[in-house]
Amino acid sequence: MKTPHDMVPRYAPAPRFVWPEGHRCAAMLCFDVDGETTVLSEGAHLASRRTLMSQCEYGPRIGVPRLLGLLEALGVPATFFVPTYIARHHPRMVEAIVARGHEVGLHGDVHERLAGVTEAQEEEILVRCIDELTRACGGVRPVGYRAPWFETNPWTAGLLRKHGLVYGASEMGDDVPYVHANGVVEIPGQWMLEDWEQFAFSADPAWGFTPENCAKVYDLWWREFEAMHDFGCCFVLTLHPWLSGRPSRVRLLEDLVRAMQARGGVWFARGREIAVYAATHPDARREIDFDHPAVRRGDTP
Ligand SMILES: [Zn+2]
Repeated sequence: MKTPHDMVPRYAPAPRFVWPEGHRCAAMLCFDVDGETTVLSEGAHLASRRTLMSQCEYGPRIGVPRLLGLLEALGVPATFFVPTYIARHHPRMVEAIVARGHEVGLHGDVHERLAGVTEAQEEEILVRCIDELTRACGGVRPVGYRAPWFETNPWTAGLLRKHGLVYGASEMGDDVPYVHANGVVEIPGQWMLEDWEQFAFSADPAWGFTPENCAKVYDLWWREFEAMHDFGCCFVLTLHPWLSGRPSRVRLLEDLVRAMQARGGVWFARGREIAVYAATHPDARREIDFDHPAVRRGDTP
């Protein structure tokens, strides 16, 4: 059956970003290894709820090794954002991630909610996490940060700069990287490309809805990838191993990445590579702000 797309040329705006080596788009595969801190950040009193805790322990214990095997089979790098509580309780997991060449980034200590904390409190957590995660990674200092619950404060980028981090991956204001006024790079994400909204479920605490069919999720993510590929964007997929380490969802990720590889022109990169590229290629980002000088000159944005 013919669709309207077969009859008229598709809308094809100029790519948002000029990616290295002629790539059409970038893909950052993120694994937020929240594990038990998913529960504990709701309240320490929940630690005795064994079924609830074990559901989340599945991530670091079973999900991560399985996903590391998949990444190796696919030949793609990834970025793991690890709360330091998880690094303390699963030290061999962190060693395995580092040994395979993936990036480990900051993700709080016990996945603290940052809404409502003061700047001093947020800084105290950040400094403690940098020190502890550096030790857990055998001396490799993290350069990237994903705020727990994707929740940042007005001063967060300033704290990242002050403590020598290169990038944050927590805001949602664009679909390509941008640079904060202080030089910290932001690699924005979005809720559509998250597995929590698709797969999370707990009756108490009340998390999520009905776990979705992987076929529906594949369709959702593939459609966004295809359009982001056309528009030259940065496809930031965020998965939690306690959700996406389950067998059918590992297959979902395998199918998705293999299809992305088959499409071609995709730069699979860790956060630090994307951030360094964005910071050192300020002209790569195509502004679409209506107040941008190019627009005022009458050029097509
Ligand atoms: Zn998280």
